[in-house]
Amino acid sequence: LLAAMSWDDTAAAMMAAIDEVLPRAAPDHYDCLVVGAGFAGAVMAERLAADGGKRVLVIDKRPHIAGNAFDVEDAAGILIHQYGPHIFHTNSAEVFDYLSRFTGWRPYEHRVLAEVRGQQVPIPINRTTLNALFDAGLETDDDAARFLSARAEPVADIRTSEDVVVAAVGQELYRLFFRGYTRKQWGLDPSELDKGVTARVPTRTNTDDRYFADTFQAMPRNGYTAMFAAMLDHPNITVRLATDFASIKNDVSYDLLVFTGPVDEYFEQRYGPLPYRSLRFEHRTLPVEQHQRVAVVNYPDEAVPYTRVTEYKHLTGQTSAVTSVTYEYPAADGDPYYPIPRPENHALFKRYEALTLAEPNVVFVGRLATYRYYNMDQVVGQALATYRRLKARGQEALLA
Ligand code: FAD
Ligand code: UDP
Repeated sequence: LLAAMSWDDTAAAMMAAIDEVLPRAAPDHYDCLVVGAGFAGAVMAERLAADGGKRVLVIDKRPHIAGNAFDVEDAAGILIHQYGPHIFHTNSAEVFDYLSRFTGWRPYEHRVLAEVRGQQVPIPINRTTLNALFDAGLETDDDAARFLSARAEPVADIRTSEDVVVAAVGQELYRLFFRGYTRKQWGLDPSELDKGVTARVPTRTNTDDRYFADTFQAMPRNGYTAMFAAMLDHPNITVRLATDFASIKNDVSYDLLVFTGPVDEYFEQRYGPLPYRSLRFEHRTLPVEQHQRVAVVNYPDEAVPYTRVTEYKHLTGQTSAVTSVTYEYPAADGDPYYPIPRPENHALFKRYEALTLAEPNVVFVGRLATYRYYNMDQVVGQALATYRRLKARGQEALLA
């Protein structure tokens, strides 16, 4: 028989025979296995280890910690965000104080320009935007409010991402700033997306040109990856990178599983795949000190294939004779970056959520595992609340 088999088959048959004869080594035991080293996984691991006194194994299939917030020095020595710009902002003192245990901060308020009709103007739309585009001579908040209400088109039942913008600023501004950008970013028309997507971007009648209005706005002083390293630096935490859950499932045992990957993947897509939107990031270093006036310039024009360009030195304050930028190209396939908020996807998620509730000793945390378009601070808040619930429940096997 062996003579008829290829070398590969022969080796596999021999390994199978050895496996049968030798007793398997006992799997490594941990109190908790955390799948994913992004915000959700790192906060859960830190709390379980430092507050709960548990032995925790954290794995990530990527070769680094920090999930999508991962930052790293590129070949030119510029700190870039490998998965696109991550700007920290929150209204939660609890979240800010918690993260402040692991990092100092660099004060930073985010400003974004949108390129429309050949000009770069502030987005969110504010009074400066209106004056620049329409030469409107608006001098006060009231002037701008009147200008906008003359354009706004009442929508009886605001449900979609089109409704919410048209009701605030009317068709012309909607088309200039939102329709093309959204179609590119999501591969869907705004009328096919929940209102919450474009409602993330407000409209202003004053001249505040900050992208966010939150109480706390800052960047981790030495970057996100350094902050994550500090969170995970605990004697009870072991980190294994480049390790997929599927590949170690049978080699480790644990009392509690914290899963932060895509929820449909966990259940082997029993009800079919949950849709996620992906991006392709093109990182470039340019031989100039500064490429653009602000950290991010948006390109709502559908004829431009990318959605936005980020120049990192604005975020970090780094100085250099060169500069590094990232172009974001939306994509249907690739890593799952965004859950896609629309009713049919929510309904499908609800079916998966019912499975998660029936799964013993597993908690699902984070943007992919709970299928929510969450910012970093919301994921931190969700993880802290999840840990608190576990602790309050005081399950003997988990967190006695
Ligand atoms: P992730 O960071 O996605 O971490 C999940 C980890 O699990 C990943 O590292 C993944 O490799 C790992 N994993 C998945 N499946 C497995 C498996 N089977 N085995 C092993 N490991 C697995 N938020 C803001 O607050 N401000 C911003 O400016 C901002 N900008 C953003 C820009 C972009 C382009 C994107 C995509 C997101 C942005 N966010 C921003 C959102 C932010 O990235 C998320 O809120 C946050 O990173 C979510 O953390 P998480 O732990 O839930 O998920
Ligand atoms: N958006 C837009 N034009 C812009 C900025 C945002 O149409 O210039 C819409 C788009 O649908 C986008 C959503 O508003 O996906 C949320 O924008 P945000 O900047 O919060 O997106 P994120 O940083 O999460 O990618």
